[in-house]
This record gives sequence, C-alpha cells and structure tokens, in this order.
Amino acid sequence: MRKKIAILGSTGSIGKTTLEVIKRDKKNFEIVLLTANNNYKKLIQQAKEFNARNVLIKNEIFFNKIKNALKKHKTKVYCGNKSLGSIVKKKLDYTMAAIVGIAGLKSTIECIKISKNVAIANKESIICGWDLINKSIKKYKTNILPVDSEHFSIMELSKNSKDSEISEIIITASGGPFLKTPIRKLKYAKPHEAIRHPNWKMGKKISIDSASLMNKVFELIEATKLFKFNHKKYKILIHPQSYVHSIICFKNGLTKMILHNPDMKIPISNIINGYDKKYFNVKKINTKTLNKLNFYEVDKKRFPSVNLISKCLNAGSLAATILNASNEELVSMYLKKKLKFTDIVKNLHKILKHKDFVKYAKKRAKNIKDIYMIDKWARLKIRSMSVR
Ligand code: NAD
Ligand code: MG
Repeated sequence: MRKKIAILGSTGSIGKTTLEVIKRDKKNFEIVLLTANNNYKKLIQQAKEFNARNVLIKNEIFFNKIKNALKKHKTKVYCGNKSLGSIVKKKLDYTMAAIVGIAGLKSTIECIKISKNVAIANKESIICGWDLINKSIKKYKTNILPVDSEHFSIMELSKNSKDSEISEIIITASGGPFLKTPIRKLKYAKPHEAIRHPNWKMGKKISIDSASLMNKVFELIEATKLFKFNHKKYKILIHPQSYVHSIICFKNGLTKMILHNPDMKIPISNIINGYDKKYFNVKKINTKTLNKLNFYEVDKKRFPSVNLISKCLNAGSLAATILNASNEELVSMYLKKKLKFTDIVKNLHKILKHKDFVKYAKKRAKNIKDIYMIDKWARLKIRSMSVR
C-alpha cells in the first residue's frame, strides 16, 4: 500500500526537501495534497511531477493560472482558506506541516484530524498553539513527530527515559553567520548577510532567526511543549559545525548525542520512511569532521535573545505567542530594511516589559481565535514601539 501524504508548504525549503526524499521512493507514496502561499509556478511543477491529487494555493489570485496549467491533469485545484478536511476524505498516513510562522497554525490543527502521523516542522504553531494541538492529538490519537533536527534527536535519545533519569538536555546552535562578527558591527548587519547561514540552506525567516539565535529561543520553548521534561534541564550550547543536534546527559553517568550531517533529508526521511528503511546516498561522516567538533557557552552579549527564554517560560501560556508575533513582525520589518539587525531583539525585550504583556501572557486560549487576538495585539504593539 502506498503511503498517503500531504505536504503543507510544499514550495518552501522543508517542503521541497520532503519531496526530494519522496522522489527516491516515489512508488511507495501517494501525494494527496500540496499547499503553498504564492509560488504557483513551483506548485504547478510539483503537482505535475508527483501526480498530486489536490493542490491548494492560499493566494486566490493564482487559482485560474493553476487551474489552466493543470487542466489536462487529474489534480483538483483549491484556493484560499478552504479547510483540509473538506479536501481530504480518507485518512492520511502522514502530513508534513511545513508552513512558516503562525500562518501554519490553522492547517496544523486541521491536519491532526485527517492524518495518522503529523511530521511537524512549523515550530511557530507548536509554540503558539500547543494547548490546542495537544488537545486535538489526544482526541484523534494522532502521532506528532518533530522534524526540527534538535527535537528529532531529543525524541530519539529520550525514548523510554523518565525525567528523573535525566540531568541535562542540550540543544546545539550553530551561532549563525555572525558568530565571529565584532559585536559593535552587528547593528549594521544587512539582511543578505543575515540570511547567509554557514551550514543550512533554509527559508528567509528561520535564517534571520538563526542569526539572532531567536531560532534557538523558539526551539527551546518548542522542546518544553513537545517533551515532558523539566524546563530547567534545557541548555543551549554553540556548536558551529551543526553535526551534533542534541545531547542528553543521564544521571547514570552516560551522555548520549545524535550526530548527523546538517541535512534535513535525514530527520525527514527517518520520519516519513519509518525506521525500517535505509536512507541511501548519505555523505559519510569522516574522522576529519569528528576532529573538528567544538562546543562553546553562549555569549549573552552577542546573543541577548537567550535572556528572553526564562522571562517567556515564566510568564504564562500565551507569552510565547506574543514573543513569536512580535518576532515575525520585527523580522519582516528588518527584511524591508526598516530596522537595524540588533533592534529585533532589543524590541522583543521591550515588549516583554510592556505593562499589558503580563496580563495577556497569563490568559489561556480556548480556541484559535483567542490566539489570533493576542497575536494581533502583539503585532500592533510592536509596530508602534518600533517606529523610529
Ligand atoms: P520557507 O519560507 O522556505 O517555506 C515556507 C512555506 O510556507 C512555503 O511553501 C510557503 O508557500 C508557505 N506559506 C508561507 N506563508 C503561508 C500562508 N500564509 N499560508 C499558506 N502557506 C504559507 O520556510 P522553511 O525554511 O521551509 O521553514 C518552514 C518551517 O519549518 C518553519 O516553521 C521553520 O522554522 C521550520 N524549520 C525549517 C528548517 C529548514 O531547514 N528550513 C529546519 C527546521 C525547522
Ligand atoms: Mg533546528
């Protein structure tokens, strides 16, 4: 039986990598749905290449273009906010949730209902909507499988382990493109320099987050949601080579880590192929590489973003939603050159000090609308606070 799969955000970096993995084993997959925001050309090409049963484009202005291009194909075309449940009728084996930002939250929640397994890359939906996601996972008995390499490693390393057996969980960070840039020069860093990640080729937003280390701030928060371990056990270490993704120190004296090439095909293929399948063409790690691995404490002067973690974790369940919305706005302003690079984290510290932050952070979201409301408040607030 072919595995039925949907890829949400198929035109992005994780979406394309997922299709690359599937391409090596095409006969075993049936692409039930591909979704994208604006990149209709890529979506058409993917639909043709993989015989997708359905495609959904968020931006309605591209609907007719796609419809025309696929008129000789069996693919059904949808647009806008059409619910996934109305497109997919039979339960899927896998969904890859790879939309960037809180924009992915609605479809992440929807796909839990229609999928046996949800491979989740969209970390923003985990940190903003975990309570809702968790409720849904339990209701529909869906497996949630983290794609982020750090969380994939933690999941693998901590199988059958209790919190009481673990003393420390280390999430590694490459340090991004500015690890060695003199700190006084950081405020002049240009978007094209911030996007140039030394080890990974990723979407723009996550690349900027990697440069400011906000990506690790979010990943640590993401881990506290996904796993049941004490929050205080998490620590970030700089590891410029990005070969080790997470390390778990056990109280019995053993320390375990997972080491793999910085290639998202590895966690993705392990998730969607299952563990019984071998993944071929993986570049072997040689001893030269092993001799080059370094680990350093995070320099908080260079990366003041890490100081946001405890403030956010201690403030209440919607604190991360506020932090995420503010960061999405600030990154977007920075990409439009309306802000200096260092203003991103400076303004995030400012919003966490805002008098209404504590009030909103403590609220509990009963539904997705409650989350959108807080998200909107944070976006408006951060915009007014950041205008120069
Ligand atoms: P990307 O920008 O390359 O791709 C984003 C995808 O989301 C695109 O297909 C786009 O069409 C779609 N999208 C954007 N806004 C949308 C909207 N409003 N509605 C519907 N679709 C929308 O991003 P990426 O690098 O692939 O990252 C995707 C997610 O995976 C992010 O949450 C990121 O943090 C996470 N992640 C990425 C990597 C990586 O290596 N790229 C690694 C770990 C985790
Ligand atoms: Mg990661």
